[in-house]
Amino acid sequence: MSVTENDIRDMSRQNPFEIAQRQCDQCADYLDLDPNVHEIIRVPRREIHLYIPVRMDDNSVKVFRGYRVVHNDVLGPAKGGIRFHPEETIDTVRALAAWMTWKCALLDLPLGGGKGGVICNPKELSAGELERLSRGYVSQLWQFIGPDKDIPAPDVYTNSQVMAWMMDEYSRIVGKNQFGVITGKPPQIGGSLGRNDATARGGLYVLREAARACGIDLKNASLAIQGFGNAGYYAARLAVNLFGSRIVAISDSKGAILNMEGFDPDQVYQYKQKNGSVAGFPGATFLEPDKLLELEVDVLCPSALENVLTANNAAQVQAKIVAEFANGPTTPEADDILYEKGVHLLPDFLCNAGGVTVSYFEMVQNFTMYYWEEKEIHEKLDRKMTGAYYSVLNTSREYGIDMRRAAYVVSVKRVAEAMKLRGWV
Ligand code: NAD
Repeated sequence: MSVTENDIRDMSRQNPFEIAQRQCDQCADYLDLDPNVHEIIRVPRREIHLYIPVRMDDNSVKVFRGYRVVHNDVLGPAKGGIRFHPEETIDTVRALAAWMTWKCALLDLPLGGGKGGVICNPKELSAGELERLSRGYVSQLWQFIGPDKDIPAPDVYTNSQVMAWMMDEYSRIVGKNQFGVITGKPPQIGGSLGRNDATARGGLYVLREAARACGIDLKNASLAIQGFGNAGYYAARLAVNLFGSRIVAISDSKGAILNMEGFDPDQVYQYKQKNGSVAGFPGATFLEPDKLLELEVDVLCPSALENVLTANNAAQVQAKIVAEFANGPTTPEADDILYEKGVHLLPDFLCNAGGVTVSYFEMVQNFTMYYWEEKEIHEKLDRKMTGAYYSVLNTSREYGIDMRRAAYVVSVKRVAEAMKLRGWV
């Protein structure tokens, strides 16, 4: 039996927003947080529900539900991706928006937290339907987004083409080019070099420092990658290219593969492009997808969706480091189990912050109309990610708490201070 996306959601059925609130409540306890700040940061500041009519190829009209949530914008305009997913819920979007607030604060970016989503299955839409849905989302939302209000970006099952359509639709409505309204665009129309692999690259800079702290040599180290999309594929590719690591297991929504000698991620990627999944890759051993999480590897990289490491399986995790490229892959119960086992966990809003960091660089380039070389982007990204890792590690040691709680402490302190300075509390 193989585990599907829906199974993973069913296994836990934990509401991601309740998890985000619990994490926030725990942090309030450590920090002895001002109750007024706590009251505000437990909930979003704004959420918009959309019904988007789309003309389908057979000439019928289908109405899709969409959302945009701003969790907090005290540090600057909200920033966060748009996810197109058949299982999307408002609570997932709320949780992801909150995690964006903490991510931007942790990386010291002048941005707040937002997120968007549309309930749809892009794999079942034609290119024309996908374009009309992307434009429809923006035509209903345009008054609430903008370079100084709320700036969307790609997330699960959205890409640079979707961002290009959305930016074009916004520019058309406001009557001028507004490249800065969306990030993750193609480089030909205001996108930044280095954005495609930024999430993975940022996570690998963090992993490099974490391995140093744990005394692990990443050359030849074994990595298991759950999810082989933007985050997972580039993480695998860069781990091989930058460190000489071995990618011994890979999964996607349709199956998982194992090879202790290590895969060539580009060959697996090409196979997936042709066949729709990594499953069946020649020479690989079939692997039960949920067993990937329990392999004896140096580094486990959850790079798909939420709620995959839970109270049910955390005790079986054998990795020394868990690098959360996905948002929300670990439940609070699993966090405690992993911490007790001595697993060094790189929490999502640290480990996957490379995407929003280069998105921020993209905005800066759009505003100044001066575009940087890729090398400069990598250097700036490395400085940001490495700095954030050590601020979390040092806080974790200072307070005697796990890395996620430490990341919350750093971020919530920054947001709380800004709220006080602005007179919100
Ligand atoms: P993507 O759409 O490019 O890829 C998602 C991948 O996950 C696909 O390969 C899919 O087959 C796989 N997948 C889905 N369900 C699975 C399952 N049950 N088991 C194994 N694999 C499964 O999405 P992405 O952009 O890579 O995003 C992945 C995660 O990374 C999400 O949590 C997202 O929020 C997070 N993230 C992405 C970015 C970014 O810049 N793309 C930035 C920060 C965080």
